[in-house]
Amino acid sequence: MNNHALTMIQHMARRSGTLLTDQHLKVLDFAHEYYAMNRVGPLYPNIQRATGSSKEDIRALFPYGLNSVFTWVGIPVHTPEHPCKPMASVEVEDYREVYLDHNATTYLRPEVRDFLVDLYANGTGYGNPSSSTGPGARSHEIVRKARAQVAKCLAVEPHEIIFVGCGTEANNLAIKGVAFGHLGRPAHVVTSKIEHPSVLETMQFLEELGFDVTYIDCDEGGRLRPADVEAAIQDNTILVSLMAVNNEIGTINPIGEIGRICEAAGVPLMSDCVQAFGKIPLRPKRDGISMASFSGHKIYAPKGIAALYIDDSISLTPLLHGGGQEGGIRSGTENVDLIAAFGQAAELIHREREPENKRLRELQQYFLTKLREVEPECTVNGSTDDRIPHNLSIGFPGVDSGSLLLSLNEIGIYISSGSACHAGSEEASHVLSAMGADTENFGSIRFSFGLQTAREDLDYLFRYLGEILERLRGESEVYS
Ligand code: PLP
Repeated sequence: MNNHALTMIQHMARRSGTLLTDQHLKVLDFAHEYYAMNRVGPLYPNIQRATGSSKEDIRALFPYGLNSVFTWVGIPVHTPEHPCKPMASVEVEDYREVYLDHNATTYLRPEVRDFLVDLYANGTGYGNPSSSTGPGARSHEIVRKARAQVAKCLAVEPHEIIFVGCGTEANNLAIKGVAFGHLGRPAHVVTSKIEHPSVLETMQFLEELGFDVTYIDCDEGGRLRPADVEAAIQDNTILVSLMAVNNEIGTINPIGEIGRICEAAGVPLMSDCVQAFGKIPLRPKRDGISMASFSGHKIYAPKGIAALYIDDSISLTPLLHGGGQEGGIRSGTENVDLIAAFGQAAELIHREREPENKRLRELQQYFLTKLREVEPECTVNGSTDDRIPHNLSIGFPGVDSGSLLLSLNEIGIYISSGSACHAGSEEASHVLSAMGADTENFGSIRFSFGLQTAREDLDYLFRYLGEILERLRGESEVYS
């Protein structure tokens, strides 16, 4: 470690009241060199071999994580803007762009884009829907139509749909909206360990306010168990919030069964349906779901628009106070054009769900067959039965998923390591950890498929994947 880094580490340790021991310095020294040399392969097993400190020792030495130390002192750590991870560069003859990251976001589908362009061009949506002028009435009609389109997909009443800015807002509004009605009283909420951060962070905030929160586990297939929900509900439970489809691993939860348990217990069920809409049939009234969130940019609508279903029986405390739009639950002048686009996108994806699922199921099988030829040792994260056909989270042994992501990106293949990090990283994905997956030795990558994904895209991926993996492993300490 150079003098600058050492001085900075000593300075930061003094400021945070940490007593720097030889063991701290030994680990930092090795990790610094490891990063500086752009090594790949599991970090912790390598540190343990070199310094004798186990992962638990390292956690005790650096409670905020190793990366936090390196970030303090300006030693480069990997960021998307400044990749400092090694990449395996391969020559491609037939370069193409292959987008396999639809769970992160979808592009604007042409039908919705044309609809939106028309709307902007003829200017019908510029009026304020709350105004009684001609333009206001036209905007009001546009919003009314979109609300009815979304409601029809879910078989609910139009007034039970409200429009918000993003899925994160919908989740916050549903959870805080119920909880704020119980402020100052001992109240309990149930959620799971595999929720999206927009739910998990909201729950942590509620805990700071004094709410009691139970985080239920999932099984090793990444699915929630209805019996765990039943066992977690207490006399003072005011809300259960559980996702319908997991964004990282694509597993489907038995939300109908969970809904019936909540109904019987008289507790409202909020379900994050951001990754479920247009992929599985959703019937909130039949399934005992009192609130459900949806997001435009996951269904080929623009970003910045989302919806929340709120059953008539639920009364929410608003997060935004003001002009009383959206039934008084979400004040702020409606984003008329994007609401219209959301309505269109919802109708289209709902109508196409069955044939598209059939097509993607075949594609998913094709993917797995090809993958086994290239990489027989890989694992599929999450149940292979209860899953949407749009997603596969794959664990690659002995590979840093950040390096794999960058290597594929370089040849035009866009994927994601989810919220996941890499094999041996400090912050393995909370979903994979909750399932008990081996995040130490496997780097996980999420491939998510969409409307334009074709066999040719997968053929291109598998033409180069084997060579990339071979090269990455060739540089790995553990596998060399
Ligand atoms: N919930 C799930 C399951 C998601 O996958 C996402 C987005 O990744 C969100 C909520 C948040 O949605 P938004 O990006 O619209 O805030």
